Amino acid sequence: MSGFENPDATESSRQLTGWPDSTKLLCLTRRLGGNFAHRMKLENRLALITGGGRGIGRAIAIAFAREGASVALAARTRAQVDRVADEIASEFGVETLALECNVADAESVSRAFAHSSEQFGGGPDILVNNAGIAETAPFAKTDEAMWQRHLETNLTGTFRCTRAALPEMLARGWGRIINIASIAGKTGAPYIAAYAASKHGVLGLTRTLALEAGASGITVNAICPGYVDTEMTSRGIEKIVTKTGKSADDALSALKQMSPQNRLVTAEEVAALAVLLASEDGRGINGQAINVDGGTVLF
Ligand code: NDP
Repeated sequence: MSGFENPDATESSRQLTGWPDSTKLLCLTRRLGGNFAHRMKLENRLALITGGGRGIGRAIAIAFAREGASVALAARTRAQVDRVADEIASEFGVETLALECNVADAESVSRAFAHSSEQFGGGPDILVNNAGIAETAPFAKTDEAMWQRHLETNLTGTFRCTRAALPEMLARGWGRIINIASIAGKTGAPYIAAYAASKHGVLGLTRTLALEAGASGITVNAICPGYVDTEMTSRGIEKIVTKTGKSADDALSALKQMSPQNRLVTAEEVAALAVLLASEDGRGINGQAINVDGGTVLF
């Protein structure tokens, strides 16, 4: 709908009868601007966010709820998704659902999606594949179990949740799939062979599905953060301290210095991009892998 079809606009025009044309236009623009400023970007949307119990997933859930979306949060630690669901429901008044779900287990994913559909009367309009793990080891010590853990969670977990959400999006002719990958999915780095391979896979999946589903009102994109200030990075710092004997401050400084901004990205910065990709404003962005890394990959 264009602004001039807005019933409020017609009312505003009537009230301004007799004013000079330029003043009318100015007042009208201000009133319309006021109306649109309050329109939330994700009203009447349901978002399912994996890994929504903390870190980036939690920040995305909060940002989506602030824009009016209902949110379903899925992770293995029940207490964490419960806490975030309660926090969001009380702060934003949107409907929330906490789902205990392991994305590395096909049955668990099916149960979680069925539970969500039952609660909300349908599948998600927006799927954020954010659940992920990151362990470090030199390649020689990357055993098959570690390799499989990363692929099962980061890549196959994304595949499974997407398969569960996509049919209804296709039927509806509208959908948003946002995969939280990593700059490690573009560049690689020492000691993260399993993680980097899984995230490269996520980008391949993103691009392929974007081409397949693009004609059906669905966009599929990836966000590639640099180091984000979350527990995942804190655990990485602990590992550096254990392995190298560096202090935690020195390890943190080393990570910050990988960015020309000399800082970690915040989860809220990643969430801000997720809101754009999930919204109507983001409909022209499809098949992209967008870095939120302060320019790290240029360094
Ligand atoms: P956190 O470790 O803080 O949070 C990860 C979330 O994923 C938790 O809610 C965790 O819950 C959930 N999760 C992990 N494994 C599973 C599983 N098998 N099934 C369901 N949920 C699972 O990490 P971040 O918030 O930092 O990371 C989120 C995403 O962002 C990940 O995909 C990560 O790879 C990516 N990323 C992070 C970066 C960083 O620097 N932090 C940089 C680039 C990308 P639970 O353990 O309870 O299941």
